[in-house]
Amino acid sequence: MTTTNPCASGCRIRDEHKTDCPGDECRGCLPRPANRGTLCDTCYLHLTTDLGDVPALMEHLGEVARLAMVASAKPLTTDPVHRGDAAAQTVLPAAYLAADELWSLVVSWAQVVLEEHPANLRGPNARPWHGDVVAWMLPHVEWIARQEWAKEMKRELARDVRTLRARWPMPEDRENDRPVPDVRCPRCDVVALRYFPPAHYRQPFAVACTECGRLFSEDEWERLVSLLARTERKSA
Ligand SMILES: [Zn+2]
Ligand SMILES: [Zn+2]
Ligand SMILES: [Zn+2]
Repeated sequence: MTTTNPCASGCRIRDEHKTDCPGDECRGCLPRPANRGTLCDTCYLHLTTDLGDVPALMEHLGEVARLAMVASAKPLTTDPVHRGDAAAQTVLPAAYLAADELWSLVVSWAQVVLEEHPANLRGPNARPWHGDVVAWMLPHVEWIARQEWAKEMKRELARDVRTLRARWPMPEDRENDRPVPDVRCPRCDVVALRYFPPAHYRQPFAVACTECGRLFSEDEWERLVSLLARTERKSA
């Protein structure tokens, strides 16, 4: 019998429990299996998508920074006090600095891949990424996931991407709330449910009934939906 190691990130399956579960407050304590090297499928997916999202996020932050600079620009000649003040001119928008930090993080991990990958990546083209580090790294994610430091990279990248997208949401992060079609509220039986997207990137969503005011957390909603699906399968 082969046993799969648990995901190195230490993540757990929601609502599934080990035999020695402490119970009560536990929302799930069964580890996710490391199906992808040292990571589980979910962590592997997050690592890939977070990495893949970096170029668009960089572009977005650049645009935010550009708008901030335009908004704060004062014609230098009308401001005699600060004219020629080098310190005042080096104040860069926070989004610009954040983008710079994100890029440094990605480059430092690319460096690790470059140094540790068994294929001779340090050949004559040792720095093939002057244009695009991410495009260079993505084909190596399978290999990355097998390294013991994969969980660090996944964690650092997820932390930075999540923080940046929470502070400067990208257009696709700003979802609108919308009605849930064809589903009756389990409390008042009226079709009046509304979906409220996460306030921040990868935070839970909520569903509320606009008739009776019942609010469903993401967990409750998922349970309800799977219940509905089961009932439908039975009646089909
Ligand atoms: Zn448990
Ligand atoms: Zn995991
Ligand atoms: Zn209701």
